[in-house]
Amino acid sequence: MLNVARKNEVVVGFVEASKRWAGCLGVFVLSILLTGCGIDVQKEGTQDVAIEARGLGSVSANFLQAQPYQELLIEISAVSGRAPSQVALSHLETFLESKLNKPRGVHIVVNEPIPATGRERHSIEQIRELERQHRKYYSNDSLLTVFYLFPDGFSVDDEIGLESRLTLAVAHQATSVVVFADALRLRAVTAEQDSPDTLLTYQLLEKFALTHEFGHLLGLVNLGLPMVDGHLHSGEIYSGGPAVPHHHCHNPRCLMYYRIDEDTLVERLGNVEVPDLDDFCMNDLRAAGGR
Ligand SMILES: [Zn+2]
Ligand SMILES: [Zn+2]
Repeated sequence: MLNVARKNEVVVGFVEASKRWAGCLGVFVLSILLTGCGIDVQKEGTQDVAIEARGLGSVSANFLQAQPYQELLIEISAVSGRAPSQVALSHLETFLESKLNKPRGVHIVVNEPIPATGRERHSIEQIRELERQHRKYYSNDSLLTVFYLFPDGFSVDDEIGLESRLTLAVAHQATSVVVFADALRLRAVTAEQDSPDTLLTYQLLEKFALTHEFGHLLGLVNLGLPMVDGHLHSGEIYSGGPAVPHHHCHNPRCLMYYRIDEDTLVERLGNVEVPDLDDFCMNDLRAAGGR
């Protein structure tokens, strides 16, 4: 079992046993966090389909290149108490500005809080219905938009009582991400209970979820973005269901590795941070028009 990891280890892996989720999942396995990504080729390459309805990773060039989309807007809609911190949003903005060619900039808009659903578990269909209700911004000729939803509750795939499987975040369509803030919170609490000195804080997990999932929107690793040099993790992810292939980097020090633990955190300007993309992933972005 690939994912039986050390205490406080955070694992990112692709889990799509049921095909209910089209994209990336975050899952705990035995107090381990997994976020993964899926192989979603739904409607890929069909230019007559609205960009928002296309498959995960299928519009990576549009994120990376300055044309036709000169500006990127990140829209955040969250249930009260689930909104990402300003620190995490700034981290995402800096991450994107350093990698995408957007001459008119990367901007983040946080909507007014949306009503709680009261649901404990959400299916992907329910998440997409919430997006239809609350998404305000769609791409036009020069503006590309991404929607991050922060609902109350958890993924339908989770086994919360056992804490053996907990979905943190999912990139599920070309410009759509859901982040389960309640799951991030539970994971951070668990990490602290295991080790009061843990570096895997809620804020760090937020940063990780926001940027790692965007990496999947960008088509990493070998999803919509070809690899310049092979760096696809060769193992399979086991999440309690069948082992499945996944789109993660082979480098433990890369943001797109399938897991993160305290050993792979990095120090940046005196702060402990989640890893950035490594040279393998950056080369793929640059070859497709990224910075
Ligand atoms: Zn992933
Ligand atoms: Zn990498």
